Amino acid sequence: MNHIEHIGIAVKNIEESTSIFEDLLGVASYKEEIVESEGVRTVFFKIGESKIELLEATKDDSPIAKFINKRGEGMHHIAFAVDDVKKEIKRLKKKGYRLLNETPKNGADNKLIAFMHPKDSSGVLVELCQERK
Ligand code: ZN
Repeated sequence: MNHIEHIGIAVKNIEESTSIFEDLLGVASYKEEIVESEGVRTVFFKIGESKIELLEATKDDSPIAKFINKRGEGMHHIAFAVDDVKKEIKRLKKKGYRLLNETPKNGADNKLIAFMHPKDSSGVLVELCQERK
């Protein structure tokens, strides 16, 4: 894995949170994107090499809606940049880690992604993400 690509934060109201993070980071968000298949609306910020992804549920059965119902707003996942997500999935499976996505899927911000099972990574939801060419 190369570096932390972004940190995902689950929010209830993405407009409110966008303005909070604009204040906090001193930059405007650079992208807003709805990922229909995941039931999320995302807003991205970039500071230096690091990104923050805000995630708001677009439907009640979205993973973000479930997360917020259970734990409230807050840090949702850490995404690591990888060169080859398929290779990384294979490597981790071989070591006995469970993946929530055994085949990579399209994520926001032009990425191919896969999530690991958080129980296998100290309670942290890990996203592997590869730049889509
Ligand atoms: Zn993410």
